[in-house]
Amino acid sequence: MSTLSIRDLVVSVETEAGAKEILHGVNMDISSNETHAIMGPNGSGKSTLAYALAGHPKYTIDSGSVTLDGEDLVEMSVDERAKAGLFLAMQYPVEVPGVTVTNFLRASKTAIDGEAPKLRTWTKDLSQAMKDLRIDPEFAARNVNEGFSGGEKKRHEILQLELLKPKFAVLDETDSGLDVDALRIVSEGVNRAKETTDIGVLLITHYTRILRYIKPDHVHVLVKGKVAEEGGPELAQRLEDEGYDRFLVNA
Ligand code: ADP
Ligand code: MG
Ligand code: MG
Repeated sequence: MSTLSIRDLVVSVETEAGAKEILHGVNMDISSNETHAIMGPNGSGKSTLAYALAGHPKYTIDSGSVTLDGEDLVEMSVDERAKAGLFLAMQYPVEVPGVTVTNFLRASKTAIDGEAPKLRTWTKDLSQAMKDLRIDPEFAARNVNEGFSGGEKKRHEILQLELLKPKFAVLDETDSGLDVDALRIVSEGVNRAKETTDIGVLLITHYTRILRYIKPDHVHVLVKGKVAEEGGPELAQRLEDEGYDRFLVNA
């Protein structure tokens, strides 16, 4: 089992007007067999946390630490983070002209594992994962993210997740823009990944909807760059019933 530890994390974002501190000391421990929901009102810093974990150049870690089994993640390049077992859904949001989904996935798998997957098992795994996610076989021949609909992008993310088998997956607003059917298919993909391997999931979401399909073990409520409350699944239910008002009034 692996552990992702976030300690007193202070993160600033580069803006036109200079650096602005967004996260003011965030703490969290995630085991590779747990699902953690990170919830909170808009603008509370949820995506900032995801970008900081991803090593996005616009986000600076001013102090604190992020470690994966004791290894300092902050010092790692984006590639090294992926090799260490961190999967970030927003890592490849851009179009990759001339690179097909098949080749992209195989290259990613090779880079992460340090060796190319055996062709026969790989082809089988890929077509099974695509079938499970109700992805048209023709999709594999398309260029990455080129003209993908919102739903196709999300399915492609989960396809990567199922094939790359990371230790930790950070999914930022995976539920946004999905209709109920797509949400169910995508959630089933995450749940399959959880069943077949140890995988720690950081499910970042404003809404509780996706949590009906992917059950969190822990819920962290981020408000104005700090964890304002933590609890079990019952906290998500309470947020569904009450919203975020009580946090905003007292914040
Ligand atoms: P959330 O994902 O919870 O909605 P974000 O992390 O996106 O919140 O944003 C947190 C705060 O940081 C917001 O006030 C937002 O305006 C600010 N922020 C985030 N990224 C940038 C940026 N690139 N430039 C300026 N402000 C930013
Ligand atoms: Mg725990
Ligand atoms: Mg966000």
